Amino acid sequence: MQEQRSANQFSSKATSDRTNVSENIQWVNQLTRSRRPGPRTPHNWYSDKLLGASTIAVHAGGYEDPTTGAVGTPIFQTTTFHMSGDTYEAFEEGSIRDIPIYSRYGNPNQWAVQEKLSALEKAESSIVFSSGMAAISSALIALTNRGGHVVTSFDLYGGTYNFMREDMQQMGREISFVSPVDLDSIQNAIQPNTQVLFFEVLSNPLLKTIPLRQLANFARENKLLLIVDNTFLSPICLQPLNYGAHLVIHSCTKYLNGHSNLVAGSASGSRKYVDRIWTQMLKLGGSLDPHACSILENNLKTLALRMKRHIENAEQIVKFLSSHPKICRIYHPSVEDYPYPWAEELLTNGAGGMVSFNVKGGDEGALKLLSLLQIPRIATSLGGLESLVSLPFNTSHSSLTTSQRMNIGIEPGLVRYSIGIEDSADLILDLDRALDSL
Ligand SMILES: *Cc1c(COP(=O)(O)O)cnc(C)c1O
Repeated sequence: MQEQRSANQFSSKATSDRTNVSENIQWVNQLTRSRRPGPRTPHNWYSDKLLGASTIAVHAGGYEDPTTGAVGTPIFQTTTFHMSGDTYEAFEEGSIRDIPIYSRYGNPNQWAVQEKLSALEKAESSIVFSSGMAAISSALIALTNRGGHVVTSFDLYGGTYNFMREDMQQMGREISFVSPVDLDSIQNAIQPNTQVLFFEVLSNPLLKTIPLRQLANFARENKLLLIVDNTFLSPICLQPLNYGAHLVIHSCTKYLNGHSNLVAGSASGSRKYVDRIWTQMLKLGGSLDPHACSILENNLKTLALRMKRHIENAEQIVKFLSSHPKICRIYHPSVEDYPYPWAEELLTNGAGGMVSFNVKGGDEGALKLLSLLQIPRIATSLGGLESLVSLPFNTSHSSLTTSQRMNIGIEPGLVRYSIGIEDSADLILDLDRALDSL
């Protein structure tokens, strides 16, 4: 289809919504079109009642087909939709995100899963993307300008780090890398042109929890946008928007889909920001196929159940490892000497299923342990039903030297374990046998 000119997306038809965001982010004040929740149709399941996460996960967003009464959203495997009077009116009003026109712009399967994500994250609006990286790149390009500045951290997913270091800088954004748990250094990194703070709520692979509430307050006071990647926790453990973050991003590839059978991403927040990211997504092209949306929507229905089991299993395994003589150190918010005091307030619903630990014998010992474990697969990625295990030294952080790794806290012998939903007794027995043979 013919692309609509970008300027029309934000054409002003309605009242201006006052915003307290920075002069550095002038365009926010130009996002003046009146905004409704969604996009959604009258047939998407929606409730404004306060419901539990399991109920939301099962029902929210589901498209109830008025013609057949199908239980479950049908798959709209179509690229394009009949133009009608409504379509032309939407073009006229600049509200084309709200009606199905073309599947890169919007599709009922995208809307169903987006509405479920919005309900889970307590967001006004969400977009799904073809990967977590599509969500991150679209959001960061959309919410910063050439000449702007982003404060972020070394404790980042590798793809995000590379995008910040290479592409964002290439596109004229300045980037500062600081510790995500050191408020002073974050504050000191702020410049007159700072626009965005970007952090992972629970970081890879050392499971650092950021001081979310303090960062959100700081962002508000300094008129910055706080964007967080909540992939390691999922909205079952924590809903960052409730603490004042402006935008929450997921690699849905991980816990949200949870079955290691698709790659997807999402961004959720107030519609003002999400609409802006949507126009960026239209240009970069990272929209999610209807069939993948359908798989993701179905798998999301068990998110609360799955997370409960991931959390319980992780806590059991941390307990077992804590007293094991061949384990030197464990990284998980449930350990007694966890160094980030703000985590207690944030993680009352659990800390997900990721556990990292150092085994005696350094990287050789860790390699040996992997060869002895029988249940977890040796693979990168995380958040699936099945347990996965990998070593940062020969995967995510292999481009660094041992001493560079030590500088960022990755000591030899570090193992990253994505704890699945198997029986914890089996996982523990497997670890026990493997550690005994080390
Ligand atoms: C995997 C991951 C990403 C990237 O997501 P993809 O779906 O692989 O593009 C981003 N952030 C975190 C924290 C991740 O674990």
